[in-house]
Amino acid sequence: MGKTRFTVAVVGGGPAGLATALGLGKAGADVLLAAPPHRPPAGNGPDIRTAALFAGSIELLKNLGAWDLVAPHSAPIRAIRIIDDTGALLRAPEVLFSAAEVGRDAFGWNVPNGALVSALLAAAAAPGSQVTVQDTAGIAEVAIGPEAATLTSREGATFEARLVAGADGRNSICRRAAGIPTRTWRYAQAAVVAMFSHARPHHDVSTEFHRPAGPFTTVPLPSLRSSLVWVEQPDEAQRLAALDDTAFRRAIEERLQGLLGSVGEVGARAMFPLSGLTADAFGRNRVALVGEAGHVIPPIGAQGLNLGLRDAATLADCVAAALADGRDPGGADTLEAYSAGRRSDVTSRIATVDVLNRSLISGLLPIHLARGLGVVALKTIGPLRRFAIREGMQPSGALPALLLPDGARLIAERFRHPASRDSAA
Ligand SMILES: Cc1cc2nc3c(=O)[nH]c(=O)nc-3n(C[C@H](O)[C@H](O)[C@H](O)COP(=O)(O)OP(=O)(O)OC[C@H]3O[C@@H](n4cnc5c(N)ncnc54)[C@H](O)[C@@H]3O)c2cc1C
Repeated sequence: MGKTRFTVAVVGGGPAGLATALGLGKAGADVLLAAPPHRPPAGNGPDIRTAALFAGSIELLKNLGAWDLVAPHSAPIRAIRIIDDTGALLRAPEVLFSAAEVGRDAFGWNVPNGALVSALLAAAAAPGSQVTVQDTAGIAEVAIGPEAATLTSREGATFEARLVAGADGRNSICRRAAGIPTRTWRYAQAAVVAMFSHARPHHDVSTEFHRPAGPFTTVPLPSLRSSLVWVEQPDEAQRLAALDDTAFRRAIEERLQGLLGSVGEVGARAMFPLSGLTADAFGRNRVALVGEAGHVIPPIGAQGLNLGLRDAATLADCVAAALADGRDPGGADTLEAYSAGRRSDVTSRIATVDVLNRSLISGLLPIHLARGLGVVALKTIGPLRRFAIREGMQPSGALPALLLPDGARLIAERFRHPASRDSAA
């Protein structure tokens, strides 16, 4: 019989859950990760998504020991180009945001989800990670008690933890067990996702064509390859996803207007209906919500997983502080600090992405005018553009230790406690 009592149990082995487990390990907790091995989101086949991860997220991956494994599969994003392809009467000018403008080499990197999960799993298996990985078909039940939560797997095994990190996606059973209500909404849009090769170099530039049904975005991958997120009305997205490779290739070339030359191989496609979700609280009743268990955001502006990774880093700070002070890592004050720490970042990103998306799909002239003027302002007013670039990458203000260079040492120095203290093991 293996170990069954832990400081923290993380439920869900997507990128947010894995990063949370590793981060909590760095914060001095001993961690159970209960997850089905590499299970992709329901109904989409293998996860062919990539995520554009900004500088703080890359620092986190370095601090967790995962970056060296994922870097060879990833490409830097040194600039973002926005092209108004709405066909509106008042067409906004083309804008190029360059990382060099804010003194950076790159905004971040485009990272394939599959490679990211593999790299994080390898880091969890490395000696000294403090993470015990428990393969399971799923956690079937989470029972909250006064001192600890009890998790029961579908195989009938039980585990106890002071804190449960619910990283079990948008239909989170951890969230339900904690009784945390959500607000959900839908958009009449879906994203078609694919990776493709092309004849002309992308020069490490991501390009967003703003179109009436939503953005059409290419993001660099290593060498002459890019990933595509093509947002359309659901019927059109369905049609595109079902095209044969030749017809899909042609459709991409047409939309790109020659930008990347002729399109070569197109890989598998997946479709994601656009929706949103936000939890009323990110922590309550011994459960902290991370990643899509706490917030779902449309794939516009590359915010979703960046938020999830900031959840992981913030929770690590909160738990490390609780352990160092001899407080309960799953207690109300730890969870209130975590929830409050995540509120404004999540709320502001959801609002910004929502406004941007609705301004594109609105048929109203005044809204097109406002969006056009906004783009002109961003193009012509340097300080405004630099502010928008910095805010787009991560919120201003103090950052959790694991988002900073050398964060693993920082969190250990600031918060490490004697190994035996507060461990439920
Ligand atoms: C088209 C598209 C493009 C995107 N592009 C970007 C981008 O450029 N940048 C960015 O930052 N974000 C992006 N995102 C968002 C990003 O993909 C998500 O935020 C991220 O994948 C969510 O990770 P997660 O770990 O929270 O959830 P998931 O990946 O859904 O993981 C949840 C895990 O929990 C497991 N699970 C569920 N129930 C249980 C249970 N009962 N017991 C145990 N395990 C369970 C599941 O098997 C799953 O592995 C994009 C999203 C889409 C759809």
